[in-house]
Amino acid sequence: MDRIRIKNLELYAKHGVYPEETKLGQKFLVDAELLLDCREAGKKDDLTASVNYGEVSHFITAFLTEHTYQLIETAAEQTARALLLQYPLLQQACLCVHKPWAPIGLPVEDVSVEITRGWHTAYIALGSNMGDRESYIRQAVEALDLLEDCRVEQVSTLMETEPYGMTDQDMFLNGALRLRTLLTPHELLDQLHVIEASAGRERKIHWGPRTLDLDIIFYDDLVMCDDTLTIPHPDMENRSFVLEPLRELCPYYRHPLLQRTITQLSIANK
Ligand code: ATP
Ligand code: CA
Ligand code: CA
Repeated sequence: MDRIRIKNLELYAKHGVYPEETKLGQKFLVDAELLLDCREAGKKDDLTASVNYGEVSHFITAFLTEHTYQLIETAAEQTARALLLQYPLLQQACLCVHKPWAPIGLPVEDVSVEITRGWHTAYIALGSNMGDRESYIRQAVEALDLLEDCRVEQVSTLMETEPYGMTDQDMFLNGALRLRTLLTPHELLDQLHVIEASAGRERKIHWGPRTLDLDIIFYDDLVMCDDTLTIPHPDMENRSFVLEPLRELCPYYRHPLLQRTITQLSIANK
């Protein structure tokens, strides 16, 4: 990925834990590294195909002077998010907020916080086998897209499938979608649970009937497992109701653990 760098952008703002800091303000310096694809802009000599670093500098200055945060961690976090939401071409932003006059009672040259934030691609499996199945799924897609930190990019066709695991229940409607998101995997899972709950989802029987089930199948090429989240979804390769919708969205995506494409997994599962 290409990078545009802004170094030592100086501004006067009111971030700090102490009342004097939020009243009087002090000097801050910001370094920003903007990751995007500059190829088109470079070939065509066209600013509209890039991100205007002058505009970005003014944006950062306005944002940090109009808001007041206790922590420079928060100042960096919120500025990075605002930049990523404001500039669609931006894939990632690395921000370093310096506070050279930080009142720590010792001679120090500088303190700073540096963070990198960006857009991620997640694939979500959608399922329902109770009530108005299509409406539950459509509403879930809309609810996800309405989240500021999420953009639904593509939704597969919905297909009717036989129940899996516990077979003595109604037919399912299944699909999948591709999402661009600023959320971490756990934040995304929390949001999926909120949307499931608003569809009246109850967890009574594992693999039992449900109004709405939203599972994270992939999140970039991430491989992770903890008490509440396993990515890639551990059983996806055995489920045609996950593989078939994904085949529409990303047939050549390679499962980061199994090292097989979706198409290969789908053929092996038949
Ligand atoms: P399965 O996960 O086998 O499809 P299920 O969807 O019926 O079964 P749920 O009751 O919806 O299971 O989820 C139980 C828990 O699984 C969730 O609360 C969540 O913490 C955990 N979980 C682990 N990995 C994932 C994932 N990739 N996506 C969604 N939930 C996950
Ligand atoms: Ca599931
Ligand atoms: Ca689930």
